[in-house]
Amino acid sequence: MSWEDYVRRVEPYVPGEQPNKARMIKLNTNENPYPPAPGVAAALKGIQDETLRLYPDPTAKKLVDALAERYQVSPSQVFVGVGSDDVLAMAFLTFFQSEKPLLFPDISYSFYKVWAELYRIPYECVPLDENFRIRPEDYRRENGGIIFPNPNAPTSLLLPLDEVEKIVAGSPDSVVIVDEAYIDFGGESALSLLPKYDNLLVVQTFSKSRSMAGMRIGYAIGSEKMIKAMMDVKYSFNSYTMNRTSIELGYEAVKDEAYFQETIAKVKATRERAAKRLAELGFHFPEPSANFIFAEHESVPAAELFQALREKDIYVRHFNGARVENFLRITIGTDEEMEELFAFLKEYLRK
Ligand SMILES: *Cc1c(COP(=O)(O)O)cnc(C)c1O
Repeated sequence: MSWEDYVRRVEPYVPGEQPNKARMIKLNTNENPYPPAPGVAAALKGIQDETLRLYPDPTAKKLVDALAERYQVSPSQVFVGVGSDDVLAMAFLTFFQSEKPLLFPDISYSFYKVWAELYRIPYECVPLDENFRIRPEDYRRENGGIIFPNPNAPTSLLLPLDEVEKIVAGSPDSVVIVDEAYIDFGGESALSLLPKYDNLLVVQTFSKSRSMAGMRIGYAIGSEKMIKAMMDVKYSFNSYTMNRTSIELGYEAVKDEAYFQETIAKVKATRERAAKRLAELGFHFPEPSANFIFAEHESVPAAELFQALREKDIYVRHFNGARVENFLRITIGTDEEMEELFAFLKEYLRK
C-alpha cells in the first residue's frame, strides 16, 4: 500500500479558459462587460495597510447587513461566501446528507455533479424536455435534495416563478436550492417564496450582474435555521472566508442601486439586438433570460464555428456532450464587441 491508495480521487470541474490577449473579445465565461459601480473603484483606492494586516470580520456584518436591507430579509437569513461556488459547496456539504439521490437537470451547471462526487452525495440527473425546459413534475419523486439554476445555464431559459414554486412545494422534506446566478438579467426571483417555504435556499452572485467576478462574492438567502446550519459548517471549515477588501467593495456595489439597474438595462438591450442579429445569421436558440445566448447554427457545426472564432481571438464557450455539442454559449458583451462578432460571422457564413 502507498499513500496514493488513500487519495480522494475526483474529476474536477473545468472552468472556461481565461485567455489574456491585448486585443480579444471575451464572450466565454459570462462576465459583465461593464465596470463595477463607481463607488467600488473609489473604495479600492482607500485600501490601507490595516486592510491587509488585520483579520477580517468573520461575520462580514457590513456586507450581510447591506444585502439584508437590499433584499428585505433579516441579516440572520443571509450567508456570504467566496463567490457562489463557495456558497454552493457549503450548501452541498450542509444539506445533502441523505441516502436518497440529489436531483438536478442533465443539462445544467456542471459543477453540481463535481460537488456531489466530491462529497459522495448520491445524485440523479433529470433530463430536460426536448425544448430544454425543466418540467416540475419530473422532480415530484423521492429525493435527498434538488438544485437547479434559474435561468438555467447554459440554455439561458427561465422557469417561471409559479413552476419554481411547484418544485419547492413538491419536496417539503428536502432542501431545494435555486441557483440565481443570472436572475437579475430577466425573471422573477424565488426570494418572494421564502416566507412560505423553509426548505428553500436562493443563491446569487456578484460575478455577473454586479460585474465583480474577479472579487469572488456570492450569497445565499434562506430561513434563519438553514443559514445557521450553513454557518456552523463554515465555521468548521474556515472562519475567514470573506476578506476585508471583498466586504468593503461588495458593500459599495450593493449600495449603488441606480448603477446596478442601468448596467442590467444595457446588457438586456444588447441581448435583444443580439438575438435579432443571430436569428438573421441563421442561428436558433431558446429564448434568452440570462446574459448569454445558447445558439445553434442551421448549417455550420458549433465546433467549427468555435475554432474559427477562436482564431480571430473571439472567445465563446463550446461544450461537448449529447444534445449540447452543436451549440455555442455566447456571453453578451458591449455593443461594439457584439458588432465585431456579427461582422465576422456575416463574412464567415457568407450571409
Ligand atoms: C457563474 C455561475 C456560478 C458561480 O459564480 P461565482 O463566480 O462563483 O459566484 C454559479 N452557478 C451558475 C449557474 C453560474 O453560471
